[in-house]
Amino acid sequence: MPVQFSSKLQSLLIPSTRVVVFTGAGISAESGVPTFRGQNGLWKEFRVEDLATPQAFATDPQRVWEWYNWRRELISRIDPNGGHLAVAEFEKFFSDFWLVTQNVDGLHDRSGNHRILKLHGDIWEVRCVSCGNGSVDSRPVLPSLPPHCECGDLLRPGVVWFGEVLPASVFEKAVQVTQSCGLFFSVGTSAEVFPAAQLPGIARQHGAYVVEVNIERSAAAYEANEVLLGKAGEVLPAIAASLSVRSA
Ligand code: NAD
Repeated sequence: MPVQFSSKLQSLLIPSTRVVVFTGAGISAESGVPTFRGQNGLWKEFRVEDLATPQAFATDPQRVWEWYNWRRELISRIDPNGGHLAVAEFEKFFSDFWLVTQNVDGLHDRSGNHRILKLHGDIWEVRCVSCGNGSVDSRPVLPSLPPHCECGDLLRPGVVWFGEVLPASVFEKAVQVTQSCGLFFSVGTSAEVFPAAQLPGIARQHGAYVVEVNIERSAAAYEANEVLLGKAGEVLPAIAASLSVRSA
């Protein structure tokens, strides 16, 4: 069935509209990256407390790294999908555009977005637990686990774990652009992980037109002016196609 959206949303699809796209694991699901929640979510098989917390890493860094190695290898074999590519088109079309993502998989970088605020870090980065030195390590699988820093202590994945604080400057910037945008898309997120999940509500309170794109209504739907039910890889390309018609 063709994707249909409102005349209000159509009227906002002009280059001068300030746009924020807020993404979650659902946008990468069609590429083959498992989500955390929903159907086939990772947490049906694994317990979050066993793998994605500072306590888990302190208890068993080898086990946590084995899981990250599995995820890195999986992500390295797949490609961005039509949803990611459409968001890259948005960045070219709208003169004031920001992408705020909860994803750590790097697929938005690979599909061509540059104005990205990564709230939860990046799976391709590693950081020392002692000296804090960080670097990009894009090898699909790290050969010797757990990896060590030159200073001798352990390296950890460069992601934000449950129970940890988001990088303040990144979150502050995300709030600022959310407060000043005119159109806010919430895409493929359950909107259950805080503080990121506050963003759709902040957008709405500050007068943005809020659109949720999801295969089912999430907590973000309560803040949305419009809910487009469907796969991100189908809904977003339909919106992007409408952009190119308008700019022709
Ligand atoms: P989530 O797993 O809590 O929710 C996923 C959402 O995506 C659900 O609402 C689901 O209905 C929706 N969805 C599934 N398939 C979809 C599709 N094809 N199109 C549109 N929507 C679809 O994910 P979350 O809200 O991002 O929050 C969980 C945390 O998980 C975040 O902190 C994030 O860092 C982490 N995470 C990241 C990745 C990744 O980087 N790809 C993968 C899993 C989890």
